[in-house]
Amino acid sequence: MKRIIVAIDGHSSCGKSTMAKRLAKEVGYVYVDTGAMYRAVALAALRAGLFDADGHLDAEALERLMDGVTINFRLDPETHLPITCLNGEDVERDIRTLEVSSRVSQVAALPFVRRALTAQQQAMGRERGIVMDGRDIATVVFPDAELKVFVTASAEVRAQRRYDELQAKGMPADYADILRNVQERDYIDSHREVAPLRQAPDALLLDNSHLTPDDQQQWLRQRFDEATQA
Ligand code: C5P
Repeated sequence: MKRIIVAIDGHSSCGKSTMAKRLAKEVGYVYVDTGAMYRAVALAALRAGLFDADGHLDAEALERLMDGVTINFRLDPETHLPITCLNGEDVERDIRTLEVSSRVSQVAALPFVRRALTAQQQAMGRERGIVMDGRDIATVVFPDAELKVFVTASAEVRAQRRYDELQAKGMPADYADILRNVQERDYIDSHREVAPLRQAPDALLLDNSHLTPDDQQQWLRQRFDEATQA
């Protein structure tokens, strides 16, 4: 069976990571959450105090900071899931806060940030055998991926899912704030100049508003089996 690249793109909080993670585990591929990488850069900017009170980002200072920013993943020995590390520190929990969610799209729109992270992502996929999720994986990072999926669901369904997820982790959550954040990120991600979120012409569309996680997994596994046997 040939080893392929699976590129999963789509809107915020549409369950991309869950399906990508499950597929990677089932088929023994490496899983990479590129959103976590952008979130880690946003966290580094927040920690360095690069946002002023109005939410304006000092992009020049971030560009200087980028040289000292290393992002990598370590496998959790218990769950076998990747833990995002910023300069060696486990930041998995810190990058999921609403504060980071509300800043990340600004950081992700900067060309120098995208250049640095895209190069790292391409290096991770050199051997293929990888499932990567994000916004520009099928369009920019791996336009030659053998399987491309574009996932979406209504903004309300996505906000409810993110709310349930935060609640389950015991993290603060307000549905209206989350819905606003989901809509804002959709807008910024789709309208930025560099690598905007869009469906690649050869990507398969999956609207999972009314699908159970198991149904969607089955759908993805079938597409994977077809792609690896082709
Ligand atoms: O996937 P997640 O919601 O964690 O991604 C957080 C943010 O990172 C997105 O809203 C988007 O602004 C940015 N992102 C991106 N390109 C990617 C992955 C994420 O711009 N490949």
